[in-house]
Amino acid sequence: AKSAGRNTLRFFDPTMQALVTQRTALELELRHGLARDELVLFYQPVVDQDARVVGVEALVRWQHPQRGLVAPLAFIPMAEQTGLILPLGQWVLRVACLQLVSWSAQAATERLTMAVNVSARQFRQPEFVQQVLTMLRQTGANPKRLKMELTESLLLTDTQDAIAKMSELRDVGVRFSLDDFGTGYSSLSYLKLLPLQQLKIDQSFVRDVLTDPNDAAIARTVLALGQSLGLGVVAEGVETVGQRDFLLQHGCTRFQGYLFGKPVPIAQLRLGGAD
Ligand code: C2E
Ligand code: CA
Ligand code: CA
Ligand code: CA
Repeated sequence: AKSAGRNTLRFFDPTMQALVTQRTALELELRHGLARDELVLFYQPVVDQDARVVGVEALVRWQHPQRGLVAPLAFIPMAEQTGLILPLGQWVLRVACLQLVSWSAQAATERLTMAVNVSARQFRQPEFVQQVLTMLRQTGANPKRLKMELTESLLLTDTQDAIAKMSELRDVGVRFSLDDFGTGYSSLSYLKLLPLQQLKIDQSFVRDVLTDPNDAAIARTVLALGQSLGLGVVAEGVETVGQRDFLLQHGCTRFQGYLFGKPVPIAQLRLGGAD
């Protein structure tokens, strides 16, 4: 009777039922959205000390016929859970590679790097490396221009497997950046084991870098760590000149944030230099 009661309660819980229905509807819609080509990549510039654009990060959005432009946080977690992240991730990679190919035809853009976000589920697939290599070959994109952003938790769950995959891709020129650095585990010893080229200071530390001494200390520590390990450091979420100057003073050479440009569709991307 006890367990029946619990089941009954669960089954008739209207909020839970509504959540399940919503989730299923959204999943189905995303499945259709992928098939109907409703996803779009926005690009956010990454700049150097002189505010010159050196690359972009590709950030996915869903141009939904009724809901409008949907932010990734509204569907990426669901896509991770349902496995839709696999076709979605392949789509992102293809579009990003094709964009690199189109940039490679002009001197002004041929050296730009394209960073794509890779989800844990995507990276953990045994076929991950082969899929990336196939995509590079099929599109003709230069692997040296491609950067993959990984998160700490992803690298810590099976570090040996991660090292093997990253090494194989690094051998053809693909580079790796550690996203949201500082927000997860604080084990630093694994950092030097990984074939990484870059750390990204999470925007949660950049936001209050001028007012919160703890955030300032973390930002300085990441910059010093990058220096001693021979890794580049990019600061994300830079919105003010004050934040940029602080980071610059402590050795940061790559910046990303609204101060330099929001994520925009390709037609609105201003790569600078000419003006
Ligand atoms: P993320 O990789 O940490 O991306 C940075 C987020 O910060 C982006 O949010 C970007 O629009 C936002 N941002 C950039 N500069 C500023 C700034 O100056 N101020 C503020 N307040 N925000 C800034 P977005 O585009 O909503 O993406 C959210 C997250 O969704 C990403 O976080 C990433 O984890 C995930 N995501 C986006 N695109 C993809 C994708 O293609 N594949 C996967 N697996 N995840 C993706
Ligand atoms: Ca990222
Ligand atoms: Ca980030
Ligand atoms: Ca994030």
